[in-house]
Amino acid sequence: MDKKDIYQQMILIEEQAGILHESLSAMKEQLVHLLEENKRLSIENQQLRKILKKEHAVESAEEDQKRASQQAEEDAKASSAQVGEGYDNLARLYYEGFHICNINYGHLRTEGDCLFCLSFLHKS
Ligand SMILES: [Zn+2]
Repeated sequence: MDKKDIYQQMILIEEQAGILHESLSAMKEQLVHLLEENKRLSIENQQLRKILKKEHAVESAEEDQKRASQQAEEDAKASSAQVGEGYDNLARLYYEGFHICNINYGHLRTEGDCLFCLSFLHKS
């Protein structure tokens, strides 16, 4: 292999490294997209389960008037607890690595802490 061949070989490898780098960047982007989608879907799933549970509770309450009045009391308690629960959910979402600020809500935090999220967390 003469010097010219080695040089040609290096150029070839350099090109391949460039292609590899592009593939890695694309895959990284896809991974972020998938993680975000997964989080969105799991939150949606959670909310749907909650609604399902509530509707089920309402149905059985309708069967029994006494239980219906108890349910109303429980619902009132639950809705007052919901504000605290909402904050906990946001805090958890943030510490799982997602934005909760209105600028990037639901997106993966790829660069560590976000000042907007933190100020939002501390304001609430
Ligand atoms: Zn943020």
